[in-house]
Amino acid sequence: MLETVQTLGAALAGIKTLADIASTVKNTELRQELNTKIADLQGTLIAARQDMLELQDKYEQVLRENKQLKEASAPKQKPLGMKWGCYQFEGEEGLFCTGCYDSKGQKSQTNRVNTKFRMCPVCKAVIGAG
Ligand SMILES: [Zn+2]
Repeated sequence: MLETVQTLGAALAGIKTLADIASTVKNTELRQELNTKIADLQGTLIAARQDMLELQDKYEQVLRENKQLKEASAPKQKPLGMKWGCYQFEGEEGLFCTGCYDSKGQKSQTNRVNTKFRMCPVCKAVIGAG
């Protein structure tokens, strides 16, 4: 897709050269005709390149979304257990937010607020340590 954009860019550069050559044509009528045709072609190519750039943006966006979806649907590591309302994972220090993990598969380490509560810095959930 990027190659197409580059090809269109090269074609536009070629047209510019063509326009320079056309401007040296002595015959006024022929020169005007050439200029008109060249301008038309230029407009078409610019529009095509614009379309390609927009498509490329959309394509990249779809790729990002696809990656996020894949990550979200990937088999999750099972929490080792729970402590103070948070998940614990094997081989990992700390206590993790259950909300973030259950909804997004994201391991957010919770911070201790006081002896009774912990807080998730990502979703701002306050987790009771009762
Ligand atoms: Zn959270």
